[in-house]
Amino acid sequence: MPALLLTNDDGVHASGLGALAQALAELGEVYVLAPEREQSACGHALTLHRPLRVDRLGERRFAVNGTPSDCVNLGVLGFLPERPVLVVAGVNHGTNLGDDVTYSGTVSAAMEGTLLGVPAIAVSLAPGGDLAVAAEVARLVALRVLVTGLPKMTLLNVNVPGAPPRGIRLTRLGHRVYRGPARPHALLDRRRRARVGRASGHRHGRPARGLRLDHATPPRPHRPPGPRRARGLRREPRCPVPRGDAKGRAEKVVERVWDPFELVRAQMVDEQLVRRGIADARVLGAMRKVPRQLFVDEALRGRAYGDHPLPIGEEQTISQPYIVALMTELLELSGREKVLEIGTGSGYQTAVLAELARRVCSIERLPRLAERARALLEQRGYTNVWVRVGSGTLGWPDEAPFDRILVTASGPAVPPPLFAQLVEGGRMVVPIGDALNQVLTLVEKVRGEMKTRECGECKFVKLVGKYAWEA
Ligand code: SAH
Repeated sequence: MPALLLTNDDGVHASGLGALAQALAELGEVYVLAPEREQSACGHALTLHRPLRVDRLGERRFAVNGTPSDCVNLGVLGFLPERPVLVVAGVNHGTNLGDDVTYSGTVSAAMEGTLLGVPAIAVSLAPGGDLAVAAEVARLVALRVLVTGLPKMTLLNVNVPGAPPRGIRLTRLGHRVYRGPARPHALLDRRRRARVGRASGHRHGRPARGLRLDHATPPRPHRPPGPRRARGLRREPRCPVPRGDAKGRAEKVVERVWDPFELVRAQMVDEQLVRRGIADARVLGAMRKVPRQLFVDEALRGRAYGDHPLPIGEEQTISQPYIVALMTELLELSGREKVLEIGTGSGYQTAVLAELARRVCSIERLPRLAERARALLEQRGYTNVWVRVGSGTLGWPDEAPFDRILVTASGPAVPPPLFAQLVEGGRMVVPIGDALNQVLTLVEKVRGEMKTRECGECKFVKLVGKYAWEA
């Protein structure tokens, strides 16, 4: 297992560090090397005027009587039995935004790792945020960095908001300005100011341990008073971010959204779809892209990529990922088709279709589900989807004919209006059977005739309506 070096500026006993250590344990051999006491806002400081002491607190857990940067410096340059592959600092209590990073011991620790050539991440949590969520975000980011690495001289300064995050946005560092001094009384205390001034004058080179700077009185580590962040704070607008133009020059886009479920999703595609024979590259691409977790209830997000359906309310379900992929593959979409979907449900299958077809017309009989799915699809930026409340077995005559039809609820037979609204040469996928046994059926229209092929057993909720089951 590779060695991971964890530190912080809230001190070795801080709960944020404990949560981080727990979350990262599965990624490597976690070494905690952290200041013995709080070092908030100590900046990128190294201790040069006295020897450092390291106390062993437990297995791979050490307290250092120095700064967070000292801890990283020690850890990377020889204290650990092996060079760490990743430095993670945090979870800091309170965000480190914009210029905060110059004060922050947490970000400075990551900076030290970066300067020493080890990929590094700083993780901070907004007041009121959930530490477990921050630790999980840290785990996902760390996993990503371990897999893909970081560009040279780049560190990630991760700030987890108070509300549960919906994704991860990669952005440039912004700028923030505080009104008034962080510690007004310090300006009035001439002696203190002189001391602080001298001490902060040392810019470090690489440390020469034991070097004595007798005139230097170390600045007392202090934390800027909490309200500084809330009250005297004026947020400057973020750095303008060049965006891709209409022709999609993606390389110009600095800011992009990174979905923390990306890796889990890729794993789902490999293990549940590819292994079971889904081979259409476009279908696999869409399944890798659509954030399924957003289509389920927040409480179920952790299970969104499981190999099973999940409840979506109103006694309905979002289909298992494999079934979504299989049905989509059977439709053989090239990108030019107009598709009718019966049973919008969560809107997940709709989104997958929208990725692969020209236009998707989706009908849902339950207004609450239709409304939720429509809002989500709109929010995700799909402009080629129409969602309508209605009885799907009658089809959508105004928009007919359709190149493809997908029914995501099971009925006793192919509803005649749907077959009538299918173009010549078109394909329809529909589960057919009774409440217990159903067969995924591919229907093709060949010279006006219905040709069917059975494509395996399945289990769907009931298709309700005129040409299906009664409500
Ligand atoms: N594709 C959806 C599956 C939802 S379950 C998803 O993955 O989320 C099937 C959906 O079909 C349910 O939401 C149910 O309300 C809807 N449904 C059942 N009969 C219908 C009908 N006759 N017309 C439209 N929708 C119907």
